[in-house]
Amino acid sequence: MKLLNGKTAIVTGASRGIGRVIALKFAEEGADVAFTDLLADEHLKSLENELKEMGVKAKGYASDASSFEKSQETVSEILKEFGNVEILVNNAGITRDGLLLRMNEKQWDMVIAINLKSVFNLTKAVLSQMMKQRNGSIINMSSVVGVKGNAGQANYAASKAGILGFTKSVALELGSRNIRCNAIAPGFIETEMTAKLDEETVKGWRKTIPLRRGGTPEDVANACVFLASEKSSYITGQTLHVDGGMLT
Ligand code: NAD
Repeated sequence: MKLLNGKTAIVTGASRGIGRVIALKFAEEGADVAFTDLLADEHLKSLENELKEMGVKAKGYASDASSFEKSQETVSEILKEFGNVEILVNNAGITRDGLLLRMNEKQWDMVIAINLKSVFNLTKAVLSQMMKQRNGSIINMSSVVGVKGNAGQANYAASKAGILGFTKSVALELGSRNIRCNAIAPGFIETEMTAKLDEETVKGWRKTIPLRRGGTPEDVANACVFLASEKSSYITGQTLHVDGGMLT
């Protein structure tokens, strides 16, 4: 029996990286998948096709998660097309790093809007449907940096820590409606982005991780499958650290 049969999931920022793998794992577990990214480009189209080939209903939407109006519009299109939504993964995120002394207002505002406000936007957009269904699992992508802080990432750390407060509050407000809300805090996940880094630097990082390796997008996606499924039906308001023991 597949873990997500009969469920519809929305995954934001899924054309690439971790979001893409989450969408694929969800489909593997039988979920229909609506996903978003900034542009309706070849990445979006190729994921949409790959998902359809797996035998589930799937559609990609060009939608800026930092826009309240666009998020409302997109979710209502998704509901028209898919009928229901049981799972929301707020995955879209960016970095605009810099030491505070040099960080400008634009770097701050962009990161807060795309990483934090987007979580509010999408959660608001799915809320009434999930309340009607009395069933929902919302998964917010935080980061080890949101728990620990990081020099050169004050904006990113603030956005990811903000997500943790939001997650716990939503869990408290909506538990009585059977809507669960949890966060995932990935550590160092090896993606296309980190593949560009100097190998010696990456080796140094790996050595500091108790499990002695960087995480994979699959590691994060597996945690999402668990939190999206009924296997976690008594878990809400939590932060699941997917970091090889980094914070231990
Ligand atoms: P990525 O850059 O590979 O993918 C992010 C996706 O989000 C991209 O496809 C991008 O186009 C999309 N996106 C950006 N702004 C958007 C917007 N306004 N609306 C909709 N989509 C938008 O990044 P990733 O490494 O896959 O990261 C995914 C999530 O995981 C992010 O929230 C990130 O902060 C978090 N995270 C990543 C790591 C890591 O090591 N890679 C660690 C901790 C947390």
